[in-house]
Formats: sequence, C-alpha cells, structure tokens
Amino acid sequence: MTGSHQPGSGPVQINQAQLQARVNELGTQLRRDYQGQEPHLICVLNGAFMFHADLVRAMGIALTVDFLQTSSYGDAKQSSGEVKLVKDLSFPLSGRHVVLVEDIVDTGITMHYLLGYLSGRGPASLKVAALLSKPSRRKIEVPVDYLGFTIPDAFVYGYGLDRGQLDRNLPFITSQE
Ligand code: IMP
Repeated sequence: MTGSHQPGSGPVQINQAQLQARVNELGTQLRRDYQGQEPHLICVLNGAFMFHADLVRAMGIALTVDFLQTSSYGDAKQSSGEVKLVKDLSFPLSGRHVVLVEDIVDTGITMHYLLGYLSGRGPASLKVAALLSKPSRRKIEVPVDYLGFTIPDAFVYGYGLDRGQLDRNLPFITSQE
C-alpha cells in the first residue's frame, strides 16, 4: 500500500513496514514545509502517542512538542458527540507554527472542536496531521493537511489506537477480531 489510500474493502490491515514508510514520507513532507520555523507538534493523547513519536523523529528538524487530551470514547465504539478537554497544553501557542497530530479523524467532531480551541490561542499557523481518516463517517468537514491513510468504515486498533484501552502497543493497525 502506498500513498494515503487503502484500496478495496475487507478488513483493514496496515503492517509495520507500511506504517514506517508512510510516516517517513509525511516526516519528509513536514521537514520541507517547516524547515527553519521551529514548528510546535501537538499530540492528541492517548491515541496519537506512537504516531507523534515516530513523526517528530522522521522530521529531524528543530521543533517543540506538547500534549493535550480530549475525552475519549471510553470503552464504547461510538462517539458521544460531546468533546471535553481532559488535559490542557503546557505551553503557549502565540506566534507558533502549530501542527496538531491526531490518530484518526472519524466523524470530525473532535478535530473541529480542537481546531476552534487552538486557533483561539493565537498561533501563527495551524495545520493538521492525521494518521488515519474515515471520510465516509464524517459529520463535520475538517481540513487534514497531512494524511497517512484513508480507510473504510471499520473499527481499527493498534499503533496507539485502543480496543477497550488495550492493544495500543501493537506495532501494526488492524480491524480484525
Ligand atoms: P471523531 O470525533 O468522531 O472524529 O473521533 C475521533 C476520535 O475517536 C479519535 O481520536 C479516536 O480516539 C476515536 N476513534 C475513532 N475511530 C476509531 C477507531 O476505529 N478505533 C479507535 N479509536 C477510534
């Protein structure tokens, strides 16, 4: 699998080599776009922790990081539609070139909330990097500037994403039971 598309239907399966190759490509793209700007890479906990860690290493330029956390699905597989900030940022965004790093954009509700919240804090620029997107599930259109893979409507886990809080440490992404 190359590029941001997973062809066909059936179970989602993105192996370790495919993840590494795509994250490296995104890192190269971000390096070119942000060289000399000391971008600020914000990780949305918990799901994006692995993607964020690999992406900032792949970028290989001077940058800073921060972390925030929104209320999650808990153990359910459906979003409540209500987003709450559980952990706030530690550093100001004023004048910074911010890249918001998410694991997956599903309905878009979380991303829409976060973009509103972050843009109110005065960044010089604000872009989104998401590892996965399920466009068929979208309820609110949100921009995704750097996208790893487009996937069909399936519940996926691994590589940071959880299944009932477990399986975040799998080195691959799967939708298989
Ligand atoms: P949205 O607000 O509906 O776009 O959902 C975004 C959040 O829901 C993501 O950051 C994930 O935490 C979670 N989520 C959505 N789909 C999945 C999935 O297939 N597996 C694991 N978590 C998911």
